Amino acid sequence: MRLTHYLLISVLCAVPLSVFAAGKPGISDAAVTSMEGLHLDWLDRSVSPAQNFYAFANGGWQKANPIPPAYSTWGTFNILQNQNEDTIHQILEDAAKDTQAQPGSDTQKIGDFYYSGMDEAAINQAGIKPLEPELERIANIEGQKQLQAEIAHLQMLGVNALFGMDQMQDFKDSTKVIGVVGQGGLGLPDRDYYLKKDPKFAKIRAAYVQHIARSLELLGDTQGNAAREAGIVMDIETHLAKASMSQVQQRDPLAVYHVMNLVQLDKTTPNFSWQDYFANLGHPELKSVNLAMPKFFKAMSNELASVPLNNWKIYLRWQLLDAFAPYLSQPFVDEDFKMQSMLTGAKALLPRWKRVVSAENNVLGFAVGKAYVEKKFPPSSKAAVLDILHGIRAALHSDMETISWMSPKTREAAIKKLALMGERIGYPDKWRDYSALSIDRGPYVLNVMRANEFENNRELNKIDKPVDKSEWFMTPQTVNAYYDPSMNNINFPAGILQPPFFDPQAPMAVNYGAIGYVMGHETTHGFDDQGSKFDGHGNLKNWWTRADKRHFEKNVKCIVKQFSSYTVDGDVHVQGKLVTGEAIADLGGLKLAWRAFHASPYYKEAKTIDGFTPDQQFFLGAAHVWASNIRPAEARNRVTTDPHPPAMYRVNGTLANLPQFQQAFHVPGKSPMVNQPICVIW
Ligand SMILES: [Zn+2]
Repeated sequence: MRLTHYLLISVLCAVPLSVFAAGKPGISDAAVTSMEGLHLDWLDRSVSPAQNFYAFANGGWQKANPIPPAYSTWGTFNILQNQNEDTIHQILEDAAKDTQAQPGSDTQKIGDFYYSGMDEAAINQAGIKPLEPELERIANIEGQKQLQAEIAHLQMLGVNALFGMDQMQDFKDSTKVIGVVGQGGLGLPDRDYYLKKDPKFAKIRAAYVQHIARSLELLGDTQGNAAREAGIVMDIETHLAKASMSQVQQRDPLAVYHVMNLVQLDKTTPNFSWQDYFANLGHPELKSVNLAMPKFFKAMSNELASVPLNNWKIYLRWQLLDAFAPYLSQPFVDEDFKMQSMLTGAKALLPRWKRVVSAENNVLGFAVGKAYVEKKFPPSSKAAVLDILHGIRAALHSDMETISWMSPKTREAAIKKLALMGERIGYPDKWRDYSALSIDRGPYVLNVMRANEFENNRELNKIDKPVDKSEWFMTPQTVNAYYDPSMNNINFPAGILQPPFFDPQAPMAVNYGAIGYVMGHETTHGFDDQGSKFDGHGNLKNWWTRADKRHFEKNVKCIVKQFSSYTVDGDVHVQGKLVTGEAIADLGGLKLAWRAFHASPYYKEAKTIDGFTPDQQFFLGAAHVWASNIRPAEARNRVTTDPHPPAMYRVNGTLANLPQFQQAFHVPGKSPMVNQPICVIW
């Protein structure tokens, strides 16, 4: 039920792998070694850096690293994540073999979960049996009241039943934790997949309906019944999609903030009882909630009254199966993968151990992460990267002091926000307590279900309690980073503090271009078009004068226009308004990293290597972070749902706005690597 995007947390990149979509790389040791230092073998010198810097910096890498069959994208993030998975694989193998592990300990839980997921014979023999009690509950629903109780029950197990509930820091009072409910209930990645007329989306819709039908046949339905039922599911989901907010609309914090009491809630959704719903979740004491998308819930309320009960049973049965198919026997796994393959372009299923590691990272991530950092994260790494981060903060501070268009009032508030911004490196000070979760050696799918329920309870139990500031949103082994506007903090998990992002052996110019860029990116999120709406205490509160805001918004429009002109998969345009925040963070972040590098003692010591000046090394380091290949289906998926620009434009679009880059590579004024006019945000 994690409704992450309603929390407006800005992550560095889209999660490259999911339990469904990813695959096994078979990465060689040679590929790992080549990730150290300045990677001149990644270059394609037949391309001019002034024509397409991304292709110049990464073309050699792209040719040498085709996407492995089980993946939809393949890049530096995937490679690093695969190394982390190898480490975790070993940890889990060891834990599963540890027969002395104390019952109830983290070691017992991570070991038993892994064992249950790897026990393919037991999983295949059980078939659908472990889900039967849940299927029976759905079959036995009588009347609207029971239907609504079942929706709450399924949501707690991790089923995407119509919508989701979570907790969040109150946008307007960050000291408070409130409940939030948001749109959901779709089996395809986004509303656009249901609504767009484009033939490629139409083809995916047709494939989805067939996929639902085949899945229901696996449950024992006749071909004719399954086809009819698939049509009913598609009809319900299309109605929900029509009432859903677009990705772009959801980026506006005020558009997803509608705290309502029970009277207001009941008025908005006359056919849905929130009092009963909260009680069914185990929280009868709740008296209000942020109904993030009122239009969606109004439509849902209408649907509840107009769609026959039997159709709801069909829909819930499908959503239950869709949630748990990856953890069932082979026919369900294969059918599920067929659809994922259609959506992402991945051509083969991941090996079982990879899928189990991924599932375990999701549901027991901090227990796994604790073992991971003990093995992989020396304290020395922390000191070195903090040094870079502090240089970046100093660069932003001095920018804010000197920026010409800003009035003293806005300037003071911006500097105050930066001073209040928290920074965290590596892993949490306090580890998550999994003692209330019971994990055994199988059935696997029931471990997943209990872990989902545990996590949902843990989240909902935070409502109306003080904010726990020690908590991390990402596990330590994650290859990513994030800015949280309600906490006003930047977070860099241990997983990303490794080559090629940070490499003690690499020239410092490269490190500033890579991890420095990442750190500058997250810091800038506090001041992008979305982050800048929150103050230093994490409250949605304006700190801008009207004139300064207007100036800033004019700057932002330049970015929207620039990125809207880019396309992927032939004809699909990047949504400039969706990627604005990330594009601003890239531009501001890279500029800060460059300034921090120049202000550091390393700049004076830096040497030209193989003909590349320190500044050129810096920009190569930055481009190498995004070295990747992507399948057309996945590119389309990302452009539809992901607030990050495609990798190539994260490099070329950003550099086209940086005179520092143009000077470093002697780019002439009229070149595709010079934006006309240049966008300046910070
Ligand atoms: Zn970001």
